Amino acid sequence: MELENLRRRGITPILPGDACFRIFETFGLPKDFIEEALHDDGFDFDEAGFERAKEEEQQRARASWKGGSQKSANPVYSELPKTEFEGYSALRVDGARVLALVKDGVGVPSLQPEEEGEVILDATAFYADSGGQQGDIGLLYASDHHTPLAEVRGVTKPVQGVFAHKVLVLQAIAVGDEVDTAVNHENRAATERNHTGTHLLHAALREVLGKHVKQAGSLVNQNRLRFDFSHFTGVSEQEMQEIEDIVNRQVLANAHVETLVDVPIDVAVKELGAMALFGEKYGERVRVVRIGDFSTELCGGTHTRATGEIGLIKLVGESSVSSGVRRLEALSGTGALQEFRRDYDVTRVVNQLVGGSANADSLRLRLAAQDDEVKKLRRELDQARMKAASSTVDEVAESAVTVKGVKVLTQRVSGLDKGQMRTLVDTLRTKLGSGVVVLGAEVEGKVSLIAAVTKDLTGTIQAGKLIGLLAPMVGGKGGGRPDLAEAGGSDAAALTPTLARAAEVVGTLLP
Ligand SMILES: [Zn+2]
Repeated sequence: MELENLRRRGITPILPGDACFRIFETFGLPKDFIEEALHDDGFDFDEAGFERAKEEEQQRARASWKGGSQKSANPVYSELPKTEFEGYSALRVDGARVLALVKDGVGVPSLQPEEEGEVILDATAFYADSGGQQGDIGLLYASDHHTPLAEVRGVTKPVQGVFAHKVLVLQAIAVGDEVDTAVNHENRAATERNHTGTHLLHAALREVLGKHVKQAGSLVNQNRLRFDFSHFTGVSEQEMQEIEDIVNRQVLANAHVETLVDVPIDVAVKELGAMALFGEKYGERVRVVRIGDFSTELCGGTHTRATGEIGLIKLVGESSVSSGVRRLEALSGTGALQEFRRDYDVTRVVNQLVGGSANADSLRLRLAAQDDEVKKLRRELDQARMKAASSTVDEVAESAVTVKGVKVLTQRVSGLDKGQMRTLVDTLRTKLGSGVVVLGAEVEGKVSLIAAVTKDLTGTIQAGKLIGLLAPMVGGKGGGRPDLAEAGGSDAAALTPTLARAAEVVGTLLP
């Protein structure tokens, strides 16, 4: 390895300052921590480069603020104090004070029934979108504790620490009011099952695929969990099963989910071995979520109390997000149950259709065999149709009429596709030696016409011109070469009369 070579020659490699700053920015790890970790791994820390990158970033941020960029914080939020989040331990927090109301990005003194807006409180039980976990839904109640004031449809943090409850107002709310915050229990519980499931999945992935697996993003809501991670190939079916087995073993073990708060970051990462997650900013003191001795992560989200609450984790999808990043999707709890119910219904229908009780492998074989059989039959049918059509060639050729000295053959055919019609028109043309052939067919209510002229006559009559006259008679249009032309039409009833007049039309084109 190149680094080893450098060290052997007494050179200490340096990680450039801007790269260190990106780690600081992306993972939110404190500078001291990055510096120490680098030293441990035999790297030097580029202090000056780091400070330069930091200064540049701050200038960029200031510039984007002045430019009124969409990304910069709306001043309506930035002057507010941080919201006290009490939702780790309670799903209902009473007597919260309304600090601000926002309508279309602007602060307002009150919101009226049926209006949509945002409510900012001094304290709340509602979790806000963060760390991949979707915010809570629920209700705000009036100070009498039972009159619903607003339906909370989601919660975000427009600026660090300030929770904006997105609401549909039911009863007028004014700044200064006191409200009760009540989180929808079922929604929260389903989300927590998926969040705890995500931590299990993360640890299982590292066990099965390797320690290079790092979280590259996640989305956790009441319906499902989505987990993006660094890995360079697809996850095989066998690996998926192994992962599923591992996480469900953890669920069945009903391991305790433990939360450690206010842990110094270096203790969390170095002593507890907590995994820091992409895109999260961490302070000096962090929150650590530990599941038995299986998983330890830095995490601000909410979780089940024990893994048994998850019910069951079912992986339902594996895909690529970008180069080197894969995505797994999974269901848990009632979501997994619904999935099994659907699968069970499908299995039942399949078994009724194929008879007996098929498992996936035998079904796959059986359907493949049926597929082959269908293809074979289709081929045989095509051949039979061509044979039937060709066997009448002699007969048909005899039915040719002579118009101004040119032999004209018209025939209605059935059951042939375009390719087969081309073959047949060619056979008939050869049979005729010199002349004009017009074939017509009706396929599923649509008309197909094909006209062919032997080479010796193309100077006198062209197939393209002929089809140009015939096509409108079947409600369509067409064209082609002097020796071969095709048309489609929509008037199936006009096909037979058109073919009957084809010889006459040929006559109008001949001198
Ligand atoms: Zn988490």
